[in-house]
Amino acid sequence: MATLAPYACRPEATRGRRHPEPAPQGRSDFQRDRDRIIHCSAFRRLEYKTQVFLNHEGDLFRTRLTHSIEVAQIARTLARSLGLQEDLTEAIALAHDLGHTPFGHAGQDELNACLRELVPQAGGFEHNLQSLRVVDELEERYAAFNGLNLCFETREGILKHCSRSRARTLGDVGERFLLGTQPSLEAQITNLADEIAYNNHDVDDGVRSGLITVAQLMGVEIFAEHHDQVLRRFPDVEAKRLVSEVIRSMINTLVLDLTHTTQARIRELAPQSVDDVRAGPPLAAFSPAIQAQADALKQFLLHNLYRHSQVMRMMGKARRVVRELFQAFLDDPRLLADEYRRDDPIDQARAIADYIAGMTDRYAIREHRELFRMD
Ligand code: MG
Repeated sequence: MATLAPYACRPEATRGRRHPEPAPQGRSDFQRDRDRIIHCSAFRRLEYKTQVFLNHEGDLFRTRLTHSIEVAQIARTLARSLGLQEDLTEAIALAHDLGHTPFGHAGQDELNACLRELVPQAGGFEHNLQSLRVVDELEERYAAFNGLNLCFETREGILKHCSRSRARTLGDVGERFLLGTQPSLEAQITNLADEIAYNNHDVDDGVRSGLITVAQLMGVEIFAEHHDQVLRRFPDVEAKRLVSEVIRSMINTLVLDLTHTTQARIRELAPQSVDDVRAGPPLAAFSPAIQAQADALKQFLLHNLYRHSQVMRMMGKARRVVRELFQAFLDDPRLLADEYRRDDPIDQARAIADYIAGMTDRYAIREHRELFRMD
């Protein structure tokens, strides 16, 4: 591993775990966190959860698992260039989507709507908070505690956003949302690595699915620019390789721009410790020109892929599955296995949300069929 910068997180200086444990042997505290994430059941379920395309729509599309691995790859590259703690970065990246529901954002939005309409006192549902809940509470693997008992720095990185009212209930990791301070640079770059990963792989999956075309993408500056560069170098390249080359060139540009812009901001503000990073303004950033290009690509994907009629149809069905499951369990909790039954109605609603959020796409579809069909 490259030398750590003074503003990097250090495992030996961790703010610690919620339940004190002896130091790990033969690996650092952040390596242990990364290892615990990889071994947990929520991580394995990411394999069967939708990113944009439903898991069963094709074997080549990204899933939450392959997305998380791509985020980890990009985040580690950034971490190494910037002298940051790679193991922590990887742990945050691999855990960042653990709280995602089945069926991507449609699943989350519907679960949130169900909770808010039917059990308003329970508070809604938000996948990012749920990721923290998975590692803090829901995993049942260790004899001495619930959850994975991760280090503060990993939990801080997982919690990307949070309302002030919710932040008050979250203790140490909620504080920065009340104080208006920043998370570590490892957390900041992982958040941007997430954006780089999904914007680019959604172009790839979108073109492969036929829902968006290269001709449409030529109206997006960043794509057109890299497309022309690739064609100048390889005038006879076949279509499939051309798209791959454009994507790899876009990722490279975004990663290098983020690295250089962040380096310049670090030089300017000269943080001497991770506490200086937390107290200052955000340090990880793209240059304004590249940020504008990335925003335009994001808008393109929103209008042309995420709101494509075929995606909307599938997501409409997914919403119905989530709503009908939630409603059925809420109306009659006896349909639930004992481990999800609660005496208090608000606890019961939350347990139903946890159960549904933990489902893979195919498990949710199966469960729905079992509850609503006689055959
Ligand atoms: Mg993500």
